[in-house]
Amino acid sequence: MSTTDARRQDAVRPDTEVIRSVLDGRWAESRRAIRALADDPLFHPVSGLSVEAYRDRVWHQMTTLAADGRIRVGFPAAHGGADDVGSWITMFETLAHADLSLLVKAGVQWGLFGSAVLHLGTRHHHERYLDDIITLRLPGCFAMTETGHGSDVQALRTTAVHDPATDEFVVHTPDADARKDYIGNAARDGRSAVVFAQLTTADEEHGVHAFLVPIRADDGSPLAGVTIGDCGDKAGLRGVDNGRLGFDRVRVARENLLDRYAQVAADGSYTSPIANPNRRFFTMLGTLVQGRVSVAGASGSATKSALTIAVRYAERRRQFTVPGTDDEVAVLDYRAHQRRLLPALATTYAMHFAQSQLVEELRSVLGGDDTHAQRELESRAAGLKAVATAHATTTIQECREACGGAGYLSENRLPQLKADTDVFTTFEGDNTVLLQLVAKELLTGYREQFGNLDFSGTVRFVSEQVVETVVERTAGRSLIQRLVDAVPGRDEDADLRDRGYQLKLFESREKHLLDGAARRLRRASGATGTAAFDAFNEVQDHLLTAARAHVDRVVLEAFVAAIDTCADTAATALLDRVCDLYALSTIEAHRGWYLEHDRLSPARSKAVTATVNELCAELRPHARQLVDAFAVPDAFLGAAILD
Ligand SMILES: Cc1cc2nc3c(=O)[nH]c(=O)nc-3n(C[C@H](O)[C@H](O)[C@H](O)COP(=O)(O)OP(=O)(O)OC[C@H]3O[C@@H](n4cnc5c(N)ncnc54)[C@H](O)[C@@H]3O)c2cc1C
Repeated sequence: MSTTDARRQDAVRPDTEVIRSVLDGRWAESRRAIRALADDPLFHPVSGLSVEAYRDRVWHQMTTLAADGRIRVGFPAAHGGADDVGSWITMFETLAHADLSLLVKAGVQWGLFGSAVLHLGTRHHHERYLDDIITLRLPGCFAMTETGHGSDVQALRTTAVHDPATDEFVVHTPDADARKDYIGNAARDGRSAVVFAQLTTADEEHGVHAFLVPIRADDGSPLAGVTIGDCGDKAGLRGVDNGRLGFDRVRVARENLLDRYAQVAADGSYTSPIANPNRRFFTMLGTLVQGRVSVAGASGSATKSALTIAVRYAERRRQFTVPGTDDEVAVLDYRAHQRRLLPALATTYAMHFAQSQLVEELRSVLGGDDTHAQRELESRAAGLKAVATAHATTTIQECREACGGAGYLSENRLPQLKADTDVFTTFEGDNTVLLQLVAKELLTGYREQFGNLDFSGTVRFVSEQVVETVVERTAGRSLIQRLVDAVPGRDEDADLRDRGYQLKLFESREKHLLDGAARRLRRASGATGTAAFDAFNEVQDHLLTAARAHVDRVVLEAFVAAIDTCADTAATALLDRVCDLYALSTIEAHRGWYLEHDRLSPARSKAVTATVNELCAELRPHARQLVDAFAVPDAFLGAAILD
């Protein structure tokens, strides 16, 4: 019997419910509460609606969600909530199996607008606005991006000048480049907006701050001085009313400054508990980190929906016969098809566990005063958001193609999943920018404020260091260390399926890439201004690769730690194989690097490919079970090919 046959044979089928409960984790009840929405046809995905009809439908869904109160859970107990951000993010993540326009509209209202008031405002803002935000009596926007500046939010140009004569702020859009753009909820439904603007008091500039600015009257007409435009039809998320906002010297009361991090007195005097304007600004943004965590989770759910459709279809779709028989072959039995879907499925499992770990971390860090932990959290959220959304984009496309022509029909959902998730790589932080920030944090050991893309400080810091970078373990520290320590001295002797060996390969790649980037930056020792920028720019691609390698390692560690918590032997054995496939297909994707850096011999590199093939064959009989464990309700999948 070949090794493969033996491995296939010993694969005892675990109970799908057991795998589901490992996946559902701590907030299983929140997941179930959202899955239950699938019983109501209002929440089923639809296609072919006009933009206006789609917006109406999403608004109706929003009011229904608001009325039943389940979204309160993430808000403070004083406002009928449960102060449970973990539950809220898990609900949001699960809602991404339903219509993604609803998800994004809910994200704007409660996740962005509501969170900004909650985290940047103080008690009087909470008392005055939170209930109305939760119940949707006050639909609102999060107006940060401008036509001229998206990624570089410190350079926003909307102004808010304090006028001591009337004790008001005058909010103004100086030119077309400074108008707020792409803003969710702005084109049709928003009544108010959290507007990010450069604050000036007593002729002194204080940088970007957030202000509550009413934009529409009760009858829906724009308020005096507010210009509202509609971004019109989009590639996806067609049920969300993205729009543009301009302000012509609009006056708001001094109380409309969200003043948790900075206060302005009636005479215009300015105070802040954080003296450094950069630090203040990025601290403010840091409190909104849950937006990124939510988008990472939502992209994971959309990926699971696509894989569920593609795997189930591939089991029933038959093409060509086995020679000499009349038996048509299910497309999932083709190795090429397994290769397209199963490594992506394994990666989706891995990212699921990394996401769960991130939500746990968010829950324990948010609101605390451990700045190192807060920066690590922001960095991890940025990294996972970038990698999870990129994975969603490539996997959903692969699923579309894996379903052939059927995958192109709207009635099979994949086109909408593709179009709706496409922009996840851009909003809540452009992925390329986010990965640079992650690399910067790794190089400076989380010393600098997260979010600041000025690299002069990094070049200076790195060039002053003589020590090598340290790879900090994230999940299951002692378990991971034990596994790595147990690897035989000679790599060539290690089994490719040895978890410690896989971890070692991931870790050594990350460390080498970071050390290499640091060495290159060190050559620019003493550089400032343009020279520092040039030095950084020279290594930009290197930094992105290092950040990506870091996230890959964090994801693998999270998967390993999650398997360790599973008490069921059969489920553990299956998850172990899925983890092998994630680890080895990732190593295979980078085998050029491993060969170039002498971490894999050519023979071993070929063995990696052979083992990935072997794992695909072993997991083929479990593919259906693995997607069923995602527990995406059929009504949310909305794919006619599965009927
Ligand atoms: C559907 C949708 C909904 C949105 N909703 C909202 C909302 O509700 N509120 C809100 O405030 N904003 C919203 N946005 C805006 C969104 O957050 C921005 O589009 C995003 O931050 C990117 O900014 P940008 O479009 O200006 O791109 P840019 O920053 O101009 O980036 C353009 C390209 O340049 C690259 N780039 C930029 N800087 C660098 C660098 N330093 N190094 C290397 N490459 C770089 C990027 O990778 C990108 O590929 C939304 C956008 C969309 C499309």
